[in-house]
Amino acid sequence: MAGSPDQAATLTHATAAIISVGDELSLGQTINTNSRWLANRLTDSGIITAAHVTVPDDQPALSAAISRLTTAADLVLVTGGLGPTADDLTRPALAQAMEDPLVEDPLALSQVEAWFAAANRAMPEINKLQALRPSRATTLPNLNGTAPGLHARVGDADVFCLPGPPREMIPMFEAQVLPRLHPPKDRTVRTRVLHSIGLGESDLATRLGKLMDRGPQSGVLVGTTASGGIVSVRVRYEGPLPPIDADAQVERTLREVRTLAGPYIFGTDNDTLAGVVLNTLRERGERVGVVESCTGGLLSSLITEVPGSSMSYAGGLITYSNSLKQTLAGVDAALLGPAPEAPGAVSREVAVAMATGGLGRLQVDHCLAVTGIAGPGGAVPAQADRPAKPVGTVFIARCSRLFSQGKKTTDVRQFLMKGDRHSIQDWSAKTALAMLRLHLVGAEDLKLLRQVS
Ligand code: AMP
Ligand code: MG
Repeated sequence: MAGSPDQAATLTHATAAIISVGDELSLGQTINTNSRWLANRLTDSGIITAAHVTVPDDQPALSAAISRLTTAADLVLVTGGLGPTADDLTRPALAQAMEDPLVEDPLALSQVEAWFAAANRAMPEINKLQALRPSRATTLPNLNGTAPGLHARVGDADVFCLPGPPREMIPMFEAQVLPRLHPPKDRTVRTRVLHSIGLGESDLATRLGKLMDRGPQSGVLVGTTASGGIVSVRVRYEGPLPPIDADAQVERTLREVRTLAGPYIFGTDNDTLAGVVLNTLRERGERVGVVESCTGGLLSSLITEVPGSSMSYAGGLITYSNSLKQTLAGVDAALLGPAPEAPGAVSREVAVAMATGGLGRLQVDHCLAVTGIAGPGGAVPAQADRPAKPVGTVFIARCSRLFSQGKKTTDVRQFLMKGDRHSIQDWSAKTALAMLRLHLVGAEDLKLLRQVS
C-alpha cells in the first residue's frame, strides 16, 4: 500500500505523548488507567513519555492535540473514541490532522463482520464506520472487540490509535504497537522502586538528602511518591549504554537508599507489605492471626489478597462489640467497663488482651489486634484524670510466642491516625502489618508515623 506508515522511513522513538479521549475522562468520572499503563510500558521500553493529554469527545480538540503533539514527540498514542457511535471521533480527527480523506478498509470491514459472526450476532449498520481509516493510515486488528486500531505517520511522528477499554487496548499494544517501536539504540532506561512504611514522605526525603538532587550529571534520578501510607522511592537511570553500567549505577543507588532509610524499607518493585510479611512467616514456618475491631476485617482482607496466604495465615476474629471481645477473644469484662476506672474498649489494655487472647484461641505464633475510633463519631472527651480519645485514636498490639523460652512478647502502641474513616481504617491495618514486620526483622524500637506512645 503506497505511502503506508509501515513502508515509510523508520523513525526513532525517543519521546512519546499519550492522548486519552473521552468525556468520562475529562469530566473526572472514569479513572484514566490507560495512560498510566502505557507510560509504564513505554518507560520499560526506553521511551520517555513527555506529555499526557486528556481531551473530551470533541473532534476539533482531538485533531488539534494530534497536530500539536506530533510536532513535539516522535510517537503519539491515542486511546478511546474508536467505537461506532456519534461520540467516537478519533477516526475523523486523525483524518483531519492528516488532511487525508477517510476510506473504507475492506480487510478491517471483514474483521469487524467476522467478530460479530463469531459472537453469533447480527452486525448493526453503524459498526461499518469502524472500518474507516484515513487513506494513508493502516488498520490494526482487534482480537478482543470490534474497534480496529489505526497506525499513521503524521509529520515526523508515528501515531497509533487504540481502543479505550483496557482489555482491548492492552493486547493491541502488545501485539501491534510494541513490535513497531524503535527506542533509541544508544540509550537505556532502568526503573526500580523501594517501598517504605512508617516514615512521612518529607522525613524520608530528608534522610535521602543529596540523593534526591536532580543534577543532570548523576544520571540516576531519585524521587518519592506517597500513597495510602506507603512511601515509595523510585530510582530511575536514564543515560547512554556502556561504558557506563546502568544496572550497577541503579543497584548502588538502591543500596544507598536502603542504608539511609533503614528498616522502614520493606520491599521492592511489585512487593506488597502483606506479601513481604507472609513470605517471611512462611520461611520461618510461622503463622499469624488477627483480632480486629475498628478495621472490621480489613486487616484480614489485606492479608488474604496475597496468593498463598493460607500457608501462613490462620484467620481472624472480628470482635466489633464488647461482648464479642469477651466471648471470642477472651478479653476481661472488667477492662471494658462500665466502671469509670475501666480502660474501655479503645485502650492499650484491651488491645493487649485482644492480641494475647487471639494468640491462644487462634493457635498462632503471632497475633495482631486493632482497636480504635475510626470516626466520624465516637470521640471520647477528656475525663477527670483521663485524656481525651479523639477520632483517629487507635491502639495496635502484637503478641508473639518466643519459642526458645516458651514465653510471649508483646508490643502495644498508641496512634493518632489522620483522615476520614476509610483512611483511618486503611492506615491502621497497614500499621499493624508494619508492627509485625518490625518484629520479624528485629527492629521493634523503630517508631512509626502517627505513633503517639
Ligand atoms: P471508547 O473506546 O472511547 O468507546 O471507550 C470505551 C470505554 O473504555 C470507556 O467507557 C471507558 O470505560 C474505557 N476507557 C476509555 N479510555 C480509558 C482510559 N484512558 N482509562 C481507562 N478506561 C478507559
Ligand atoms: Mg469514548
